[in-house]
Amino acid sequence: MKIGIVGLGLIGGSLGLDWSACGYTVLGVSRKPSTCETAIARQAVADASPDFAILAETDVVFICTPIGSILPTIQAIAPHLKSTAIVTDVGSVKGAIVQPATELWPNFLGGHPMAGTAEVGIDAALSNLFVDRPYVLTPTPQTSSDTVDTISQLVQALNARLIHCDPTEHDQAVAWISHLPVMISSSLIQSCLNETDKNVLKLAQQLASSGFRDTSRVGGGNPELGVMMAQYNQAALLRSLFAYRDQLDQVIQQIEAQDWSALQQQLVQTQQERPLFVE
Ligand code: NAP
Repeated sequence: MKIGIVGLGLIGGSLGLDWSACGYTVLGVSRKPSTCETAIARQAVADASPDFAILAETDVVFICTPIGSILPTIQAIAPHLKSTAIVTDVGSVKGAIVQPATELWPNFLGGHPMAGTAEVGIDAALSNLFVDRPYVLTPTPQTSSDTVDTISQLVQALNARLIHCDPTEHDQAVAWISHLPVMISSSLIQSCLNETDKNVLKLAQQLASSGFRDTSRVGGGNPELGVMMAQYNQAALLRSLFAYRDQLDQVIQQIEAQDWSALQQQLVQTQQERPLFVE
């Protein structure tokens, strides 16, 4: 099987590294010739080019460009693909992608590998990035079982945890555990930066340690990706943000009222139930 990857950045490059190591022939497309050269040198791809013609022999194509470029990219590559080719994407939102992508290429299956780092570009690509990480596929009633089987086989080769779900449920779930945390984490850093006492701000920067490192990590990631999460998952993210604001108001009221038992009850519950999300 020949695999095409369009967008040789962190995610596209990392997928290429793993599938090339498994023995698949991976062919890449990226806009910059220098990205293509680096991807070849790093053995993420057997060959790469800014020209979509390189995809002519591929059986499966993974669109790994920024979210806003996924649909225009499918439209642009369509004339270059075999009629039997499967197209899938790795975008962090699915509702805004799956239906229009299927209209552009009927043999389309939405996907989202739930792994990443704060870095971007081909130099940031890592082997084994997806091991034990969830990899979501969002088949619709129109998706053929052969398409699902082929992509599932490639996901399993990454040693990722395969999960199937509905695109809308995916978007609300990732709003809670991925997109909301980015906005909270960024707001945390911004609130600290808004401290008007310069001595306190400087001291806080000197004292910040593991707790701040954990809670600020996703707020220090790729700004373009964060904006696209908000732009393309607006309704689900706003629903989570409003609920979070209500929860924060509740904590403020508990502290103002010195209702330590209510605060303790919440902290006991979150301590007990955090492992339901992460081990
Ligand atoms: P990235 O490191 O910036 O990689 C994107 C690559 O796409 C760039 O290296 C760029 O290379 C290429 N590119 C940009 N615009 C393009 C276009 N119009 N046509 C063709 N290639 C283009 O970003 P990423 O983090 O890998 O994210 C890529 C996708 O993965 C996004 O859809 C994102 O939602 C999804 N995702 C990201 C993460 C994460 O944590 N980072 C996790 C899961 C899913 P050239 O400049 O050479 O074109």
